[in-house]
Amino acid sequence: MSELVEIDGSQGEGGGQILRTSLSLSMITGQPFRLFNVRTRRPRPGLLRQHLTAVRAAKDVCNANVKGAELHSQDVLFHPGPIRSGHFEFDIGSAGSTTLILQTLLPALMQAPNACSVVLSGGTHNEFAPPFDFLQKTFVSLLNQMGGNIELHLDRYGFYPVGKGRLRMNVQPSVKPLSELELVEPAVKPVLKTTVVLSQIPEPVGEREMSKLARTLNILPKNRTIIADAPSDGPGNVILVHVEQDQLTETFTGFGRRGLPAEKVAQRVAREVKQFLAAGHPVGPYLTDQLLIPLALNRGGRFRTGELTQHTRTNIETVQRFLDVDIATIEIDSAGVEVSITPKSN
Ligand code: ATP
Repeated sequence: MSELVEIDGSQGEGGGQILRTSLSLSMITGQPFRLFNVRTRRPRPGLLRQHLTAVRAAKDVCNANVKGAELHSQDVLFHPGPIRSGHFEFDIGSAGSTTLILQTLLPALMQAPNACSVVLSGGTHNEFAPPFDFLQKTFVSLLNQMGGNIELHLDRYGFYPVGKGRLRMNVQPSVKPLSELELVEPAVKPVLKTTVVLSQIPEPVGEREMSKLARTLNILPKNRTIIADAPSDGPGNVILVHVEQDQLTETFTGFGRRGLPAEKVAQRVAREVKQFLAAGHPVGPYLTDQLLIPLALNRGGRFRTGELTQHTRTNIETVQRFLDVDIATIEIDSAGVEVSITPKSN
């Protein structure tokens, strides 16, 4: 029987990622874990609905034996069983992020014995989580290029506070490990595309956002899309800017908010995109922390990104609690890092 991995959830960034990474890797390695001090330094500590759904979903996928799976719990014990295939449905029951549940389950489902399908209900476009479009065009698209076979569909948008969005995922089992990733060259001529999504928000708001984005980032008319009446139970407004590079499309996101002028929302996203382009590294900050698990579980790889976030540093530590993998981070210039991931079994 594998030894219990004990993790202090208040260390490093001290957030929900420590839980999600532990769940993903426990399911795959079969190592049980105890996570204590879960999110203790957050204003609302312990498991929120989104984290609790992640625990329950992981439990369901691998028939785990779990203690402490309750709202606000700060201590979780998780003993995984073998990963099952089949159809799964999970409803967060709030506007909590469905994409973070998907992030938790995907590595395990890629190693399930047969095909899997998942339906998730809740928020699909939340601040501080990957929007559906990031998963589809950036993260999953890259995994598919490396040999994955994952399909994503968005049925309904779910915005804070109403939620009630719905996304679906189909995963075919991987016949061989994902290929090694090498993403170190800056994009030669990146193409910028932008989509403004509105649900129950006046269309002129979207037009003002688009016009500011187009001017600031020089986006060609054929690469501008406004979805004026997105299917959703509640109001919402999100801006997505996709930076298409040779091997990878990066995605940047901004959310409209009551009281925040449309031009400001557009300007914030545009600033992020400009910083990314000026730094000249192919991988953005969010993809950096999300690539750690798939690379560590497969053939590894190396990629260049900007300064590492605390989120990424903490995620590296958590990954190394479960997997025997070298993760080197080497500064290449004042604001750039090369991340190199070498599984020891290779
Ligand atoms: P906390 O416990 O800190 O309240 P949490 O559990 O809600 O947090 P985090 O631990 O902050 O969430 O993890 C957020 C995840 O969402 C990370 O994987 C991060 O890369 C991803 N993410 C956040 N914002 C974006 C974005 N704009 N685009 C893509 N991914 C994002």
